[in-house]
Order: sequence, then structure tokens, then C-alpha cells
Amino acid sequence: MDQQINNIRVVLVNTSHPGNIGAAARAIKNMSLGRLYLVAPKEFPADRAVWRAANAADILDRAVVVESLDEAIADCGLVIGTSARDRTIPWPLLNPRECGEKVWHEAHEQEVALVFGREDRGLTNEELHKCTYHVHIPANPEYSSLNLAAAVQVLTYEVRMAALADEGSAYATANAWDVPPAKVKELELYYEHMEQALVDLGFHDRANPRQTMTRLRRLFNRIRPDSMELSIMRGVLTAIQNAVFRQKQVAEHNENPASKVD
Ligand code: SAH
Repeated sequence: MDQQINNIRVVLVNTSHPGNIGAAARAIKNMSLGRLYLVAPKEFPADRAVWRAANAADILDRAVVVESLDEAIADCGLVIGTSARDRTIPWPLLNPRECGEKVWHEAHEQEVALVFGREDRGLTNEELHKCTYHVHIPANPEYSSLNLAAAVQVLTYEVRMAALADEGSAYATANAWDVPPAKVKELELYYEHMEQALVDLGFHDRANPRQTMTRLRRLFNRIRPDSMELSIMRGVLTAIQNAVFRQKQVAEHNENPASKVD
């Protein structure tokens, strides 16, 4: 149980009001969680954060401050992004209950992040596309945006409920997998590699990208490849790039027989 708690982090992106950071820290500790990451907070450390944290100031003391969302989630195998409204491209979506269960169960074997956005604008599409799933708190459709710390409270409460329901269950062994799940930083390298291979192939144009990479991200997000599957795919991409390279050399040679073909 402690291991799972240690594998769960709450990530607040670009928070404007330090009071919200303090209130989020309190919510996290009330629900028996403990890890807080702050991505480029506008004002931190701050007295107002400490006041609102009440007896959870220790969570603020241990908070990890980083410059980018990438840094905050690089070692995670499951990332859940929160959203107060619908976005352009639909993404695999969980409700808060499913989110609590998934976060809790997957924290058995990997690092998990719950990511919250800015008070005024939420998370950008680019940030949301780095997430495995999205979660929406089904609030009043005419006024669906909760205060940031209130949203942290609702979602960490669901994690707590899943933890209490799970006490003594045999989930971890029943769901054992042979290879560790891919982490965000491996996936990001994979997407970069894939984009380059698709450019080499003449399939993808960086100057006119459309939604190709976003849709491919979503596809692999749904599959959730493990580390081994991802390295096989990297090998396939390299083989494709090599084949394209050889083909270009042959074409050049045919045009100019003096050129060399390895
Ligand atoms: N005006 C912003 C809302 C920001 S609310 C927008 O339209 O996106 C600040 C943050 O609180 C959000 O980024 C999200 O992390 C969380 N939040 C607020 N309401 C939520 C809801 N209904 N479901 C999930 N997260 C919510």
C-alpha cells in the first residue's frame, strides 16, 4: 500500500494562485497521498500557499518544482490529464471513479501522474495529448469548471476510495505482466523517431502536419505498448529508414552511375 502511495503524484501545471497550491496540498494529504509536482508555478514558495495548506505544509516542503510537464511525467507509465470541457480530438476518457481505480491499481507496478491545468485556461491540447487518458468530473454542464483544489480533492478522494476497496485484494499478482510498461520519456522518443521515419518515407510533411502525429499518439496511447514492444517498433522504424536510404542510393546510382552504392 505504501509503495502504491509513493508511486502516485499530483502535477499542477503553471498554477497562478499560491493559495490553490496550498489547498491542493491539503487535499492530497487528507486523502493519504503525498507527492506534489509543480510545473513552473507563478509564485512559489509563498506564504499564501502555507496558510491554505494548514497541517499539510510538509507536502509543500517536499513538492518538486520543475520547468516543464515533460520533466514532471518523464518516468511515468500512466498519465491522466484533467479537463473541464470537451476538446478538439476526442481522447480515451475516464470518469472520476474509473480514474481512481486505474490510478490505484496501476500504481502497483509503475509511476502514475494526475495532471491538473491552469486556473484560467486548463491544460493545452499539446499537454493533453501527452496523457494516456483524460478524466472529466461530470459537473453542471452550464458551469463545469471547478476550482483547481476542489478538482484535486474530488479526484484524490476517488483514489482513496479505490485504495480502501482494494485492501487485501490480490490484484497485483493477478495482473502481473512480463515486461515493464513503457514510460513517457520512451514514448516521446518513439514519437520523434516515428515522425522522422514518416518524413523519410515521404508520408509526412512537417510543414503541413495536419493531425497525423496527434492521431498516431492517440493510437499508441490506446494500445499502451510495453518497453519491449516499443523497442521492437523502434527497430522496425530503423529498418524502414535504412530501406528508404538504400532505395535513394540506388535511384541516385541509376541516374548517375558514377555514384557509389554500399
Ligand atoms: N477555464 C478552464 C478551466 C480551468 S479549471 C478550462 O476551460 O479549461 C482548473 C483546473 O481544474 C483544470 O485544468 C482541471 O485540472 C481542473 N478541473 C476543473 N474542473 C474540472 C472538471 N469538471 N473535471 C476535471 N478537472 C477539472
